Amino acid sequence: MSDPVAGGAQRLRDAGVDNPRLDARLLWEHAQRIQRSALVAYDRRDHIFNKLIARRAAREPLAYITGHKEFWSLDFEVGTGCLIPRPDTETLIEELRRIVPGKAAPLSILDLGTGSGCILIAALSECPNAHGVGIDSSSEALGWAARNVRAHRLEDRASLIQTAWLEEASPGFDVVLSNPPYVASGDIATLEPEVRDHEPRAALDGGPDGLDAYRALSTRIGPLLRPGGHALLEIGSCQASAVIALMAAGNLEVLRTVKDLAQIPRAIVARRNQ
Ligand code: GLN
Repeated sequence: MSDPVAGGAQRLRDAGVDNPRLDARLLWEHAQRIQRSALVAYDRRDHIFNKLIARRAAREPLAYITGHKEFWSLDFEVGTGCLIPRPDTETLIEELRRIVPGKAAPLSILDLGTGSGCILIAALSECPNAHGVGIDSSSEALGWAARNVRAHRLEDRASLIQTAWLEEASPGFDVVLSNPPYVASGDIATLEPEVRDHEPRAALDGGPDGLDAYRALSTRIGPLLRPGGHALLEIGSCQASAVIALMAAGNLEVLRTVKDLAQIPRAIVARRNQ
């Protein structure tokens, strides 16, 4: 094959990968980076590239192969065991910007189910005087979150706690953020192979109707917030009314539903009643 990128793209196209040409080019660039950094005595670039293409053709997510994903214009290290940050989730950070009284506010922020840490870290990067806690039940995910906290030099403003995410966290937070698992168990099989076969099921599976996490959150978030504090929750596309009802029953006043760039309801903003 004279053009290795075109050949790689064809293999990805045959495997059903979206954007095969773009992914092949990104993997070619990644192969060159590996080659530059590795102590290889002869040109193994094609060999490295072919191995990367084989992984992508097996529908491993691009971000796991390159080890990086951008979120809120920040770089995050990702790999097996943490959910890959999604652009849709930036909706939560946009809403955080709308509710904070000013960037300088010394907020305390809690991120439930922090995964890669992307929500917590983006929130702290927006609010330089805030501090935050990220909770996750998965030690593997928290390993990625810890790497990202270090990479963004936020060790003195971010702490990470491994616990089943609804167990004790001290109350009094100004803001609780969460992108909980919300895919109905029966829908997991219909997800793209990249998600279904590679990303952590615990970060996706929201139980029979997808609402298990919100049910648990509905009674836990109120006590974790100071009166007047806000909860910003990501939701699945058809879950707005069910989640609003759950939060209202948990002494939270739902202020609004927010749509993402595709005009799909993606987040709810709620406030703890006084
Ligand atoms: N939006 C995710 C997906 O692409 C689901 C994430 C979640 O359950 N929180 O499947």
